[in-house]
Amino acid sequence: MVRVRFAPSPTGPLHIGGVRTALYNYLFARKHNGTFILRIEDTDQARFVEGAEEYIMESLEWCGIKVDEGIREGGNYGPYRQSDRKDLYRQYADLLISKGDAYYAFDSTEDLEKKRKESEARGDTFIYNASVRGTLSNSLSISENDWKVKLQKGEPYVIRYKMPENEDIHFNDLIRGNIVVNTSTLDDKVLFKSDGMPTYHLANIVDDHLMEITHVIRGEEWLPSLPLHVMLYRSFGWNWPLFAHLPLLLKPDGKGKLSKRDGDKMGFPVFPLYWPYGEIARGYREDGYYPDAFINMLALLGWNPGTEQELFSIEELVDEFSIEKVHKSGSRFDPEKAKWFNHVYLQKKTNDQLAMEFREILRTKGLHYDISELEVLVSLVKERVNFVNEIWEQTDFFFRAPETFDKDVVAKRWKDDSPSVMKELMEVLEQINDFTPASAEKVVKSWIEAKNYNLGNVMNAFRLLIVGASRGPHMFDIISWIGKEETLRRIGRGVEILGSRNKQ
Ligand code: GLU
Repeated sequence: MVRVRFAPSPTGPLHIGGVRTALYNYLFARKHNGTFILRIEDTDQARFVEGAEEYIMESLEWCGIKVDEGIREGGNYGPYRQSDRKDLYRQYADLLISKGDAYYAFDSTEDLEKKRKESEARGDTFIYNASVRGTLSNSLSISENDWKVKLQKGEPYVIRYKMPENEDIHFNDLIRGNIVVNTSTLDDKVLFKSDGMPTYHLANIVDDHLMEITHVIRGEEWLPSLPLHVMLYRSFGWNWPLFAHLPLLLKPDGKGKLSKRDGDKMGFPVFPLYWPYGEIARGYREDGYYPDAFINMLALLGWNPGTEQELFSIEELVDEFSIEKVHKSGSRFDPEKAKWFNHVYLQKKTNDQLAMEFREILRTKGLHYDISELEVLVSLVKERVNFVNEIWEQTDFFFRAPETFDKDVVAKRWKDDSPSVMKELMEVLEQINDFTPASAEKVVKSWIEAKNYNLGNVMNAFRLLIVGASRGPHMFDIISWIGKEETLRRIGRGVEILGSRNKQ
């Protein structure tokens, strides 16, 4: 029975790398009919940020990553927030002490700093382990009587893991293969702090064991902790889960890890949702991304099934996903590709859906339209946009007559005979009863032909008066949508404003 967990620390908004970790865990759980657990790792109280926990849950919800067991969902292995499990960790630290695999250490921060400096002065790196343990203040270096007195007097202490000396530890990572690390390169990590809280390492191992986690799928930044974790499992006499460390997400130029600050610097979001509590704020949701497009994009940053296929529904991702196909090397984040995914997903939406979304944007501008009218509109421009909120830029002239006329276009397109030809066009349009695009087009084109006018000249001047520039979809689609009356009004007004301006 597969049981996996996403174990974020609520220290701020979730980075998209974290969302990808959650996603891969979720896909793996679904694929194997397993359980996806959300565990909040908040043992580091100094780094706790208000609002982060809710943000994490809301992000997963928006992405469609459903949690099976967690603080909201409950479950048989709770509580799912480490601060609510606070009381159960101490006994495990004590257990390690009784086994001789952990010890009390009384060194003050200043003492350790001094030792570190001394080592550096000699050109050594300071590692708190078997090499120096005996010279420091701990229950291994001082007499039993002395350390017991210290404990009784309530002197502050931490509990450290007693890393064995010069032993090769062998372990396996599902993505990176076999790894060997010599314990002399590792330090005696703190497991339990003087504030009465366990450190990440102890709480993480105890919880993964108690929650019967079968696979630990997490970011590569935790790979250096893996030897210690394996040692802890060994000391407890527990089986350890299988491990998979995911490759880093890299900056768009491939140089270094994609950081929280990169988004605002480079103009794309690095968070799933808007984060209201800090200066780096943008979110994919608020930028107008569809969750399924976002998830599809994210899934392919570090994994692909080995085919050319790029578009995957979440169900297809579940079917196809496998840890063996996760890449070893970092994945470069490509903001343009992210937009492309949204573009493709937007094209797949029905006009009705898009019209409903666009109607909300119009409402914020005080404009109220029927879905049926907006359906036509979105169908005309959707191929040109990546996001619904870009539809306005493509269609503003549908809703209001141009206030200004693009100077370059006037200079180029407004000819000497334009005023008279446009007045004639008004008369022609006036006569049309069926103002649908095809019908209006037929009448106007026959008139142009009969008069032997230059089609380009007429249509360019016409567009200038209706749109104010040379952009926009097919002219007859535009005038049919705005209607005969508005069309005539715009031509009349435009001719008045532009008159015979290019003659002077
Ligand atoms: N709390 C760790 C984090 O913030 C969890 C790492 C792990 O999955 O073991 O990412």
